[in-house]
Amino acid sequence: MGKEHNHEEHCHCHEEHGCSCAYGHNHEGSQNDLKRIIFGALLFVLGLAFEHFTEFNISLWIYILAYIIVGYEVLISAVKNLFSAKFLDENFLMTISSIAAFCIGSYSEAVAVMLFYNVGEYFQGIAVKKSRKSITDLMDICADTANVVRDGEIFKALCEDVKTGEIILIKPGEKVPLDSVVVKGKSDIDTSALTGESRLVSVSEGSMILSGSINKSGSIEARVEKEFSESTASKIMEMVESAAEKKAPAENFITSFSRIYTPVVVILALIIALIPSLIFGGWSEWIRRGCVFLVISCPCALVISIPLTFFGGIGAASKKGILVKGGNYLEALSKASDVVFDKTGTLTKGEFGVSRIIPKSGISQGSVLKAAATAEQISNHPIALSVLKAANNSGKLPEVLESMDEPGLGIAVKTDEGNFLIGSEELFRKLNIKYEKYQGFETVVYVSKNKEYLGALVLSDTIKPDAEKVISKLKKAGVKKCIMLTGDIKSVAENVAGKIGITEFYPELLPEDKVSHLERIKKESDGKVLFVGDGINDAPVLAMSDVGVAMGGIGSDAAIEAADVIIMNDEPSKIFDAIMIAKKTKRIATQNIAFSLFVKLVFLVLGAFGIAGMWEAVFSDVGVMLIAVLNATRILKG
Ligand code: ADP
Ligand code: MG
Repeated sequence: MGKEHNHEEHCHCHEEHGCSCAYGHNHEGSQNDLKRIIFGALLFVLGLAFEHFTEFNISLWIYILAYIIVGYEVLISAVKNLFSAKFLDENFLMTISSIAAFCIGSYSEAVAVMLFYNVGEYFQGIAVKKSRKSITDLMDICADTANVVRDGEIFKALCEDVKTGEIILIKPGEKVPLDSVVVKGKSDIDTSALTGESRLVSVSEGSMILSGSINKSGSIEARVEKEFSESTASKIMEMVESAAEKKAPAENFITSFSRIYTPVVVILALIIALIPSLIFGGWSEWIRRGCVFLVISCPCALVISIPLTFFGGIGAASKKGILVKGGNYLEALSKASDVVFDKTGTLTKGEFGVSRIIPKSGISQGSVLKAAATAEQISNHPIALSVLKAANNSGKLPEVLESMDEPGLGIAVKTDEGNFLIGSEELFRKLNIKYEKYQGFETVVYVSKNKEYLGALVLSDTIKPDAEKVISKLKKAGVKKCIMLTGDIKSVAENVAGKIGITEFYPELLPEDKVSHLERIKKESDGKVLFVGDGINDAPVLAMSDVGVAMGGIGSDAAIEAADVIIMNDEPSKIFDAIMIAKKTKRIATQNIAFSLFVKLVFLVLGAFGIAGMWEAVFSDVGVMLIAVLNATRILKG
């Protein structure tokens, strides 16, 4: 089979080897496989009947026919692999052990090995299909074509060919093909493909719509903001396609284990078959024991069930709107001991309302707001978006000629009408601009024009409704420490941390301070450190944590790229779900490893001493595989 075993090569090799990239091909678990198994099983039973009740010769031919029907794929792979460096794989073991069984007259056992092996693979195929379906359901988000409006005419174009700035028409029931902004019409958008939860969002002129969501009610026209390759849908697709290649340590263990294990058991089997016979004689008995040993030792239970478990885990997470970029992250999640949160946009909604404008005396509120909006024009920080929204009707803003983004502090821009600055207290202190300090528990930003203070905007953010439960849930899941890092001021941080139940928090941090805090936390931790952020100036910490979790549905590219896990619907409580799924995955993988190795070990000893015969061998090989595969499929349930 070489299916999982050759997995590393699969994705490049599956045409030439005919080997099946478990995660990238469609034939496993198919109707044809089932027919083949049923046909093979009928012949097998017929063979047994003939063997017992009539003349023996006929049953041999029936067995051979059954063997070829159920085993030809394995045989072909084994022969093909003979010429590659890794020919000592499960195909090889299955082939020589079943042929050896034939040679010593254990015809029915030889057929049984291949038959049950096929049954195991069939179940594996179904599970892979199911898991892939949950992933692709979440992933079935790329539309192929878009209705482009050019010179008043509408025609269909491939998404790849649509440029930014073009106008597309999205009819009710259609998928949003590219990330775009509504310019005409009103509708409700279903974002469940992106978030894993059905929720309708009303959109109208000016609303951003992400590719992959579905237009439910009205026809809308939208201006394309991002090309196809940069759009949310294709970014996510790309990411998931490579997920199966990033393997968990347990998977890698199995791969390297069977690389050593297989040749060792082949040599041991040869020793059992040859050495005692040379000394004591009795060739046929020792050859039989060697064959039994070989059948028992086949590692297909592990080689198939372990990657299946992790792939299933990724599928199960997808079903909940959590994208995990690889089995390795699932394994790391299962050992999460510290969870570090960003505040804005992660624990809080990051949708600020401008609740108060406090101008310096002699200045109008409107001009403070306009100055603030001028400075925020090109920023994508949650504060910027909120300020711009609040300043929606303050007229035309002066064009930005130059800008200076100070991550974690604020932003400065140069325009025809002067230099504008907006940002935190610290920024104003740093630049030596006098300001009037606001005394309160809300986030506040200060605004200046040509280094002269104009006033402050008080911003109110709300804590996400599910954030309040997340800390106690995480503690239940075995997380030892929950920590909050934020660029915001102490009083705001204290307020949010208190409401959520976080006792350890660090305010007024610049992005680089967050990095040094994370370094320290990693050093002090005895498990894996998760960082959960919204991706806006969090990319460095996301990348350096053991598992970077991004609140990604909102569509921050930086986050989707830097993160290892993406929570599509932005709910922090999904971290708990992710950890629980990871733990279950790990538990099942461990069970399968322990169970398979234990059974094999026992039977290997029994086989070497001639106590276990060919039927016991068949059980400990394909029987155990079947059990392990069925155990692995549990991850997809519930
Ligand atoms: P958090 O760590 O909570 O996500 P950030 O590091 O993104 O916060 O920002 C920290 C602080 O820097 C904000 O509270 C704000 O005072 C200031 N700031 C950063 N970017 C901007 C901006 N574009 N406009 C105004 N203020 C900003
Ligand atoms: Mg942030």
